[in-house]
Amino acid sequence: MKDRNFLDTVMEFEQQLELLQQQYNDLKKYVAHMVEEHQAIQTENLHLRRRLEELMGEEENPTQDETTNTGKVSLLDIGEGYDNLARLYQEGFHVCHVHFGSLRKGEDCLFCLSFLNKQNG
Ligand SMILES: [Zn+2]
Repeated sequence: MKDRNFLDTVMEFEQQLELLQQQYNDLKKYVAHMVEEHQAIQTENLHLRRRLEELMGEEENPTQDETTNTGKVSLLDIGEGYDNLARLYQEGFHVCHVHFGSLRKGEDCLFCLSFLNKQNG
């Protein structure tokens, strides 16, 4: 009877080890995923900072004096806005309201494309 209990204990211990191994593997995958995501966010952040600096720089040197005219947006402004968004999309970022500013990871986004089509049309 005692031998049987010992065998049960060993098998139980083995099962626990397997479970721990599995949890450890899951944890490793999770950490790898987090590192990947962290790098993507850093890249994204850097890119957005640069874009923001570019946009701020453009605003400091307005090409028109009519910018105080509230409620009226010139066709030129719309064109520039579209170009910026189209460039952002070309550079691999979402410009749609669903995922704005996040990486497209090389995939085309239907939201972005239809948004850009609307802006262009
Ligand atoms: Zn998108």
